[in-house]
Amino acid sequence: MNIRSIRTRLTIWYTGLLTVTLLIVGGAAFALLSYNLSREMDRALDSVARAMIQQDKSRSAPFLPSEIDQAFRRFFGFSPWDHYFQMRDPSGNRDERRSLPSTGKLPLSAEALDNAMRGLSSFETVNGLGEHPVRILTMPVMESNRVVNLIQVGMSLQSMDETRLRFLLIMAGVLPLGLVLAASGGWLLAHRALQPVDRMTAAARRISAEHLSQRLEETGTGDELDNLAKTLNQMLSRLDSAFTQIRRFSADASHELQTPLTILKGELEVVLRSTRTPGEYQATLESALEEVDRITRLVEGLMLLARAEAGVLRMDRQELDLGQVLEEVYLRLKPLADSRAIELRLGSIEPIGIRGDRDLLQRMTSNLVDNAIKYTAAEGRVTLELKREGSRAFILVSDTGIGVPAEERGHIFQAFYRTSQARCLAEQGTGLGLAIAQSIAAAHGGAIEVENVAGGGSNFRVQIPIGS
Ligand code: ADP
Repeated sequence: MNIRSIRTRLTIWYTGLLTVTLLIVGGAAFALLSYNLSREMDRALDSVARAMIQQDKSRSAPFLPSEIDQAFRRFFGFSPWDHYFQMRDPSGNRDERRSLPSTGKLPLSAEALDNAMRGLSSFETVNGLGEHPVRILTMPVMESNRVVNLIQVGMSLQSMDETRLRFLLIMAGVLPLGLVLAASGGWLLAHRALQPVDRMTAAARRISAEHLSQRLEETGTGDELDNLAKTLNQMLSRLDSAFTQIRRFSADASHELQTPLTILKGELEVVLRSTRTPGEYQATLESALEEVDRITRLVEGLMLLARAEAGVLRMDRQELDLGQVLEEVYLRLKPLADSRAIELRLGSIEPIGIRGDRDLLQRMTSNLVDNAIKYTAAEGRVTLELKREGSRAFILVSDTGIGVPAEERGHIFQAFYRTSQARCLAEQGTGLGLAIAQSIAAAHGGAIEVENVAGGGSNFRVQIPIGS
């Protein structure tokens, strides 16, 4: 038995508490029994004394042993040999005629005599008269307000002691038996209640990173363990999707890195196969440099995403005018838009001051504008706006391009995700632009949403809290 297991500890606690409770209840019952027995005995002694006084008043002859016996039987229900009865005169002298000589002499304490002289009865318990202590009642016999005699009635406490001993013996037998039964019952109950935990532990042990699709058994009872199983299953689902995402991300990242490396290797191998003219070498090196640039951009983007994900994105926060950031992006990308016959225009730009990282915000806006130019055909239009709504700044990048299908809107912010329409275009991107933009917005306490514009094109809305 594992002493640290919950079922063992529960059983020990339960049995311990039950023992204490039973001891307290047993002790109280024993005290109550003793008290009631003493009270009953005092009452019976009082009744015997009164009956004998009554009898004594009705005739002058001494009591017969049979009469005393009768009185004891009437009030105690039995009359063992060691009952006592005696009469004394007011000065305390024993009246031999009216005492029961066979049962021995009852002592008269100074206090009892004193009480009797004042017309009061006294109860005392004395030892040494027999094997057991004796309870004595000393009662004055009054006649016209005068003490004429003292009557003393005594009864051995043997039967009372025996009753109390019987009670203790029963308790001593029943209590351990009850405790053993209750402890076994408690252990079985705890065992039954905790069995699902054992099953859950075994199932959880089987679930590894490779088997995250497995789930724990839910009993459907709605109890604490069922809730625990449900919560753990929800956690497993989240882990499962996180793992799937990470696996897909690593696969996509290696694929994206592999493509430029393969091109690079191929180009270099081809050029090395035979002697080339300086112009051919130059062209190959320029193409190789393009691929190296692409790899560098990819690696740099991946690193930025990884840092943002881990919450360790380096941010150089400073007070800046968001409108100015947008104007700089506009000026930088205007030549690109012009080269593609796309009209890039600045809409209304409100001057909004925020605390943020200028380079990161520029990068975020560039990615959005760059995409808008990339996914818009010639003669199209891309508009850049900045608005304030309450305590938020809104950067709006709208275009008249291919738009984002509603069912793909939830995915385009994932790294390497491309819409089917975009894949058909010759345009090549790293696939990280929107993921990076979203991370930068999030690092500034904001978010990016996308919606399609009526009549074609899309509208990206970056929302950034001004107080951030
Ligand atoms: P990419 O390098 O492929 O552009 P992004 O992360 O920047 O990667 O964008 C992800 C995908 O979102 C794109 O491949 C494209 O399918 C879609 N997308 C982004 N911006 C636009 C836009 N302005 N219009 C239409 N589709 C867009």
